[in-house]
Amino acid sequence: MAEWDYELFWKKTMDHIRGELGEQEFSLGFNMKYIRATEHEIVISIPTSLQRDMIKKRYLNNMENTLKSLSNKNISIVFEINSDHAGKGDPVPQAVPENKAIPRESLRSEKKKETNFQLREDYTFDKYVIGENNIFAVNAAVAISRNPGNAYNPCLIYGGVGLGKTHLMQAIGNYLFNNSDNKIIYITAESFTNEFIQSIQENKMQPFKNKYRYTDVLLIDDIHFLQNKAGTQEELFYTFDALYNAKKQIVFTCDRPVSELKNLTDRLKSRFEMGLNVDLQPPNYETRCAILKKKIEIKNISIPDEVIALVSKNVSSNIRDLEAALIKLIAYSELVGKSITLETARQQLKDVFASPRQSNMSIEIILRVISENYSLTINDLKGRKKTQNIVFPRQLSMYIARQITEYSTTEIGQAIGGRDHTTVMHSCNIIEERIRSDPKMESIIQNLIRIIKEYSAKS
Ligand code: ADP
Ligand code: MG
Repeated sequence: MAEWDYELFWKKTMDHIRGELGEQEFSLGFNMKYIRATEHEIVISIPTSLQRDMIKKRYLNNMENTLKSLSNKNISIVFEINSDHAGKGDPVPQAVPENKAIPRESLRSEKKKETNFQLREDYTFDKYVIGENNIFAVNAAVAISRNPGNAYNPCLIYGGVGLGKTHLMQAIGNYLFNNSDNKIIYITAESFTNEFIQSIQENKMQPFKNKYRYTDVLLIDDIHFLQNKAGTQEELFYTFDALYNAKKQIVFTCDRPVSELKNLTDRLKSRFEMGLNVDLQPPNYETRCAILKKKIEIKNISIPDEVIALVSKNVSSNIRDLEAALIKLIAYSELVGKSITLETARQQLKDVFASPRQSNMSIEIILRVISENYSLTINDLKGRKKTQNIVFPRQLSMYIARQITEYSTTEIGQAIGGRDHTTVMHSCNIIEERIRSDPKMESIIQNLIRIIKEYSAKS
């Protein structure tokens, strides 16, 4: 087949995406090279299939649409995995093996010093499994570890409970602690608040200020805790500016996007939003299996693959729950002195699997959360009106029901106004299309899912 030269179109397409995402986020995930093309196909090389899957899921449509508008042709993008081009000179190590933790050789913690008591020794990069759900955030964390204060500063890592924020943040701390002379402080926003209050009561403000304003790396975990804490917010604001102006690295974590924090001063909000914001999403089934395998390997025990599959399938809420299920199994097997089989796993984890967090989310709850979020009523979603402000949330309800419940399209259609299953399928396709063409869509949806899950855990 004849070769075509689409390299210029490709460059323009990348410029377009870079414009939409911003330089920082772009550099974290778009490490691709144009290789060759035929009339209707461009072949692109990309370092890992993990990155390929992430790009396909979030951006492929956007890229192909841009190519189409530039060339007036339908051109599809085909990926070739080639880890070589990720090599030298890149600001971020991209060639991370799939669903594996970052290997020791690439981020070694060799210069063992005394212990840093704020950090958990086992929260390192080599124990952190990378999946499509966290690759942006991991790349950012690795880049920060290699070049603190310069790579991405400040950086905010956000995501729901138990998705790996603390582990990733501490991995940065552990790496820098073991491989540099940087002074590192890790603290939760809650402890920061308590220390601040105590320093006022004991008239020791100056030592407090000195401690936080003269560190090289400041890691503050769970900043959502600062909502409603005006005094601490003000102190953190000044701390932030002092460190930022001195080019010191600052990393925050938060359980939601900053825009959703309430009772937080605008000036502090704007500081959190500066720099890079990356999200952690719930892991898919494959990544859940990989995480369990990693935990099992660390504990040096053996558990049959079918048990790993069973647990990964049934515990999908977050990684903390996944780990808790594993620990429960191990404890039982040690107690009775028997190895873990599929049967014992089923028995022992019966309650875990049936808990509200893991069990089917009711469609009513989905409808309630979505209707509230879009200022509609549940009847609007179930009804027949076809105005755009209703149609989109309705399609979204069907899509989310498909994602987080085990109901069939027939059951979902039935529950959402007695619709046909083909309508549900069509709605899911439309939302998937939106996710591919709109980079913001995925996080909007994940966020709704998080609210729905919280809601359903409470009820
Ligand atoms: P968060 O701070 O977001 O609530 P944590 O960082 O405390 O979550 O993670 C909860 C548990 O899950 C920890 O034991 C952590 O080691 C584990 N974990 C989270 N993400 C991963 C991952 N990608 N690979 C391996 N373990 C993980
Ligand atoms: Mg945490």
